[in-house]
Amino acid sequence: MAQEWGFYFDPEKCIGCSACQVACKNRHGVDPGPVDWRRVETVSQGEFPDYEETTVSISCMHCADAPCENVCPTGAINKRDSDGIVTVDQDKCIGCKYCGWACPFGAPQYGDDGLMQKCNLCLGEGPGSGSGQPTKKTADNGGTKPACVDTCVGGALEAGPISDLLDGVSQAAAERFGQGSSSANVIVEPTTSDGGMGPADITTPETGD
Ligand code: SF4
Ligand code: SF4
Repeated sequence: MAQEWGFYFDPEKCIGCSACQVACKNRHGVDPGPVDWRRVETVSQGEFPDYEETTVSISCMHCADAPCENVCPTGAINKRDSDGIVTVDQDKCIGCKYCGWACPFGAPQYGDDGLMQKCNLCLGEGPGSGSGQPTKKTADNGGTKPACVDTCVGGALEAGPISDLLDGVSQAAAERFGQGSSSANVIVEPTTSDGGMGPADITTPETGD
């Protein structure tokens, strides 16, 4: 695979405003209602008085060995060789919902048209599109930033080739430790095909306390 794309999300910067969720719906013309290609959820841990809530922005993670692709009986779901983006070809989809059940993140969404639709990293407009689109370009190279990334007021979301994202993550972590940050940090890493991380590995770096 040439270069594999993914998302990066930093909950320390997320303020839970749901602008990413709304921007995604807007960019892709998804009707108001239960279908969301990206959604903001609250994750809680612990018990009172040691109780914490974190908001997490979730969409398709464009998994390395995508469970949705593996169960699709018609080959409608495809992890593209050119950029690793997982798309749904609605001309092939029969609406059986297997992909929705297989996905650990609930990313594929069943639309009013009886077909599946999901995040395509803003490859094309409209439900499920993207399968026939050319290789994704970075914003520096004339490509479009995903709507969620473009809209995030806190800068909590990034998208790009995974190698670039990991460089950024390493740098951000180094800066935080340099500043003596003592707050726990949870990073939802993008997936890679080199066996390094599984879908939505959640890491909590040591704080040094
Ligand atoms: S997150 Fe879900 S929809 Fe996206 S590639 Fe993985 S299994 Fe498929
Ligand atoms: S709903 Fe469509 S995309 Fe999903 S598994 Fe069935 S045929 Fe494939």
